[in-house]
Amino acid sequence: MAKANTNNKEWNLAPAPESADHVQVKEKYDLFIGGKFRAPSGKKYFPTINPANEEVIAHIAEANERDVDMAVKAARKAYREVWSKISAAERGKYLFRIARLIQERAREFAIIESMDGGKAIRESRDVDIPLAAAHFFYHAGWTDKLQYAFPHQKVEPLGVAGQIIPWNFPLLMAAWKIAPALAAGNTVVLKPAETTSLTALKLAELIQDAGLPNGVVNIVTGAGPTGRALVEHPDVDKIAFTGSTDVGKMIQRSLAGTRKKLTLELGGKAANIILEDATIDQAVEGIINGIFFNQGHVCCAGSRLFVQESIASEVDRRLKHRMNSLILGDPLDKNTDIGAINSKGQLATIESYIAKAKKEGLEMFQVDCAVPRKGFWCRPTLFSDVAQSSVIAREEIFGPVLAIQTFRTIDEVIDKANNTPYGLSAGVWTDKGSRIFNLTSRLRAGVVWANTYNKFDPTSPFGGYKESGFGREGGVHGLRAYVKLDA
Ligand code: NAP
Ligand code: MG
Repeated sequence: MAKANTNNKEWNLAPAPESADHVQVKEKYDLFIGGKFRAPSGKKYFPTINPANEEVIAHIAEANERDVDMAVKAARKAYREVWSKISAAERGKYLFRIARLIQERAREFAIIESMDGGKAIRESRDVDIPLAAAHFFYHAGWTDKLQYAFPHQKVEPLGVAGQIIPWNFPLLMAAWKIAPALAAGNTVVLKPAETTSLTALKLAELIQDAGLPNGVVNIVTGAGPTGRALVEHPDVDKIAFTGSTDVGKMIQRSLAGTRKKLTLELGGKAANIILEDATIDQAVEGIINGIFFNQGHVCCAGSRLFVQESIASEVDRRLKHRMNSLILGDPLDKNTDIGAINSKGQLATIESYIAKAKKEGLEMFQVDCAVPRKGFWCRPTLFSDVAQSSVIAREEIFGPVLAIQTFRTIDEVIDKANNTPYGLSAGVWTDKGSRIFNLTSRLRAGVVWANTYNKFDPTSPFGGYKESGFGREGGVHGLRAYVKLDA
């Protein structure tokens, strides 16, 4: 693929593509049910494409209600007959084995993640895959220590967990869901997103290699209706969903009045706040990482930037300078900062927001780099002097589009930052610890980063307030969502 390069002409780097020769992708992937790959009962397959060149990578099975029912039955049988019978330490061994196998095959997973989803290999290699392994390692350690996580209480698994994940961190989201569920003694039916099923299916192969008892993890691929069939299946004990707020609300309505437990990790519209005493270069790196990391396909993306008025012009200058040096292009090139947008549909959504912002008369800055002819691409974009009422300050775009606002006082910025239906994450940049404590305790967001952004760790809980959902993933809090407690 032609490499698009930065407009910073003096610093053009030679292409450094990661070789994909050793990566094995089959032409066709079946459903993973009861420890075996099975053809879908409706015999339907859909293509998964590489969003950087629009080439078909493989065909993926579409699971209908019958297949979902088979998967839930397989999970129930495995729960009753095996997983709830073996010792906790034994469960832990399987999780350790999965973690180690992910590490061993990290390179292959990273390449497939970048091919199927469009994200820069640097991210899939350095963030997605190592963190996925870390989640299995972390939870492997908990399996035989649940009585310490929940002292003086009787701890029991819930049973069968139905799990539905989005396309922005495919393997990592699968790990976030599967690892705590298994650690707590549940079995799982997982539905990956339609555009990024490949690494979940590679994980299924790895799970076979790890010798996990049949049916403990089942993977049903497909689109929205497959997810709905899983949500509505009567024999599922818990639904864990990560995705859009709209679908989350539908799921909540459909589960109302049932005995099923539910956790929702939904959208966000995070505020990244720079105070005048911040180290500006460091903050600029954090802003770039916050919104352009993974093409802005991040629920906790720092999509609203609040800059204190006295440093606004300096931040604006340095931010644009840094944006101009970002390299957009082939996701498999190790120099690439910005990969492809995940799908044609998502690109159309992002472009419609850019058009709306322009129509509002907002001042736009877009990096002037070349964009490959094929595939789905969006240049890093920012809008200055955005009003609170603007659509790009209110709605989640899920793309590399930053809305900048200024403020004078801390009270003013807290009011503005909290003035959103979401409450997933936020960032604060300042030299003063006291200001960090003041702001972080008043911002209504599940995660607040101080002088850093988009940092994740399996030991720390992640999740939102308000329309960003409920329940936590990671840490002891995340385990809580997969157990029944009796005092
Ligand atoms: P989405 O449309 O809600 O899809 C998420 C998952 O739900 C996909 O697997 C999707 O299948 C499935 N689905 C669609 N309709 C369904 C239905 N009626 N019943 C059950 N499942 C259904 O979200 P998305 O656009 O793919 O992902 C982006 C969203 O996820 C953003 O809003 C983002 O903020 C959020 N997100 C949140 C977090 C977090 O931790 N809070 C993390 C990552 C992403 P198909 O894709 O196959 O249609
Ligand atoms: Mg794809």
